[in-house]
Amino acid sequence: MQREEYQRLVETFFQWDESSLLEIFKELLKAVAAADLTGSMEMMSQNYETAQANPEIQVLPGNLKDARDAIFPYFWGTDSWNSPLHLENVRGPANHASLIGAFACLLKNPNLCTDRYSQRSNELEVKAITALANLIFYHTQDPWGVFTIGGTLSNLYGAKIGLEKVIPGAMQAGVGNQRVVGICSEASHYSNRTVAGWLGIGTQQLISIPTDENLSMRLDLLAERLEQLYQDGIKVAYVVATFGTTDGFGIDDLLGIRQIIDEISQRHSQPKPQLHVDAAVGWTLCFLADYDLQANPLEFSPELLDIVARAKRQCEGFRHVDSVTIDFHKMGRGHYPSSAFIVNRRSDLRYLSREVSDTPYFSDADARRDPALFTLECSRPALGPYIVMASLNGIGLTGWRMLVARSLELTEKLKRGLEQLDYCKVLNRGTIGASVDWWVLPKGRNAGAIYDRLVSGQLPEAERQRYFAEVKRLQEKREIMMDRKLDARLGFTTNYGYKPHGIEIPAWKAVFFNPMTSDAIVDRILYSIEELT
Ligand SMILES: *Cc1c(COP(=O)(O)O)cnc(C)c1O
Repeated sequence: MQREEYQRLVETFFQWDESSLLEIFKELLKAVAAADLTGSMEMMSQNYETAQANPEIQVLPGNLKDARDAIFPYFWGTDSWNSPLHLENVRGPANHASLIGAFACLLKNPNLCTDRYSQRSNELEVKAITALANLIFYHTQDPWGVFTIGGTLSNLYGAKIGLEKVIPGAMQAGVGNQRVVGICSEASHYSNRTVAGWLGIGTQQLISIPTDENLSMRLDLLAERLEQLYQDGIKVAYVVATFGTTDGFGIDDLLGIRQIIDEISQRHSQPKPQLHVDAAVGWTLCFLADYDLQANPLEFSPELLDIVARAKRQCEGFRHVDSVTIDFHKMGRGHYPSSAFIVNRRSDLRYLSREVSDTPYFSDADARRDPALFTLECSRPALGPYIVMASLNGIGLTGWRMLVARSLELTEKLKRGLEQLDYCKVLNRGTIGASVDWWVLPKGRNAGAIYDRLVSGQLPEAERQRYFAEVKRLQEKREIMMDRKLDARLGFTTNYGYKPHGIEIPAWKAVFFNPMTSDAIVDRILYSIEELT
């Protein structure tokens, strides 16, 4: 072995050299600032053609700048969505408190599998989970949970607990040939199908209950379906309620669902299904749960106060659920990955636990502290806890209330503006949240009347297809005509969630995620629509 070469290698890549690190960090920061300055940066075009053909690896040991150069074109070619004109989806700039947290975490690189591998970082996870649980469940006694890489995985944890509750020992013996189902709403996220597939119950055993116009699961249909399932001898492992559907921000009636599943399962002498809430998008409304409407310290307008009052009522439902998915990397404006799975009662985690003998190299693990004894993953990043605690405490409860309220305010502004236009129809008028789904039809059409005929089943299919094509065509036209320095980028969905008579409805979509999005940008959206048609 060439000792000197080896020594240089170790010094370059494993010993602290603050000045070389700082130099490169500064360059990266400058590149981000430059991209921001150009406003709506046109991304570098992609080069997939040779990404596979030329996966080069440098031969000789290099230095930290080689590391920089290896990733720089991809870094530069990635739009961070920092621009306040990005309204397509729940993505945008992560907050800088989160950056500090994430950065600190990377410097220590703890592994949250057990206490021994992470020391105080495990403690930070307990703290972060408890802080979020107090915010969500409100007066919870005994919450617990873990950070995962995303809402999909957090939903998987909830479903798995349900499966173990209704088929004890499924973890060891499997589900055999018992028919077992999960339930969600038609407007729920597709990850629920992923989960049913990966869990082994099968995507076809995931039952979707239609929603009402506000994208909220129809309780009458839930009750009917549950009754039928139990009569047919089918086991119901879990119900996933959604708190904030991805496109339209529909919220399920959590208490209503709780009462129905408890009552019907009991009547059939069946174990209660797990009531899991997918609040990946909607959880930040809980920051408003104890806003003092009377004193109104943040001087919300009367319209906003009204929305906040409704949000407060919706949040009360969390007290009645078993577990919840929270994506801090969505409306928490934190870095990826920072999703949390939280149970209201810690004892529910026993359904996931494995014996110390199943994890031989964690032989000193203690089930009270070491998550590896029940998590799906083995190694786990600590980014989530660092991101969450830095963000919650940097921004503070009042700061969070302002951020959430501002999203609601801009959403309402756009909804109201669109309502002034006869040829537009706001589809998710009754939901509380950060997103707007709507139609734009050619001038002269009465969008509201067309919608009413669709919902009442009086719109012939040919006519419907013509209108839906117009909605899509106008969206494409705006994409072509837009001034990328001034006009917001909007999203488009082929199915915003409500399906009257089983019909999927397309919609234009805007999500107020970026705190820098202004009233002027909303005015400009309305102007661009008027110019378009
Ligand atoms: C985004 C989303 C998910 C999936 O979360 P990931 O973090 O992207 O895996 C699940 N449910 C809802 C409602 C979502 O919006």
